[in-house]
Amino acid sequence: MLLKELLFPSRCLICKKISKDVICNECLSKISVIKGPVCEICGSPIEEEGICYRCKISPPYFFKARSYALYDGVIRIAIIRFKFEKKKDLGIFLGKLLGEFVLELAWNIDFIVPIPLSKERLKIRGFNQSEVLALEVSRVLGIPMSLGLIRIKETKPSINLNIEERLDNINRAFLLEDHNLKNKKVLLVDDVYTTGATTNEASKTLLERGIKEVRAITLAREL
Ligand SMILES: [Zn+2]
Ligand SMILES: [Zn+2]
Repeated sequence: MLLKELLFPSRCLICKKISKDVICNECLSKISVIKGPVCEICGSPIEEEGICYRCKISPPYFFKARSYALYDGVIRIAIIRFKFEKKKDLGIFLGKLLGEFVLELAWNIDFIVPIPLSKERLKIRGFNQSEVLALEVSRVLGIPMSLGLIRIKETKPSINLNIEERLDNINRAFLLEDHNLKNKKVLLVDDVYTTGATTNEASKTLLERGIKEVRAITLAREL
């Protein structure tokens, strides 16, 4: 062991206990990993296998969406520290977890595409959290990442908006600039799935530009 490690052992960024990884095994075991039946399309936890009510009345543009965990406890703290305290180590660690989750799904994918931030938002944050995650997913799967989807309109936080305002808020927010994606199967990557409006609008843009099929993956899901 190096002296530096003896004097300053690395610690879990969640509970601060000594740990070789940025999230220790104890904290990892507390993540609310989504198990049990989920909607075949959008991946929302449901009582019995099948398709949820929302997808029945209004089927989304994406073929399937899944999330690794519920947005609470450890994963919520980890995402907040990663995004707002700019702890990129956490993002890389979370991206690897997400990559392994996608590996288990055994999906047929040609390209990985992060949900983009607008130029203005990118300037404020300094990095796109979805891109950090997507790069790790791309590494785990050995599938290329494309940054060809761009955001031309920043959306307001949708928390105080009604459904109509939310849809208007996200409408025409994306543009695809990568022609290599035509006829390909794309996996969208984002950090948190809330209403699915962002994922759906990005999927719509991709399908309009000749992408064959869109699947989506997020680290966490708000219920
Ligand atoms: Zn811990
Ligand atoms: Zn559904």
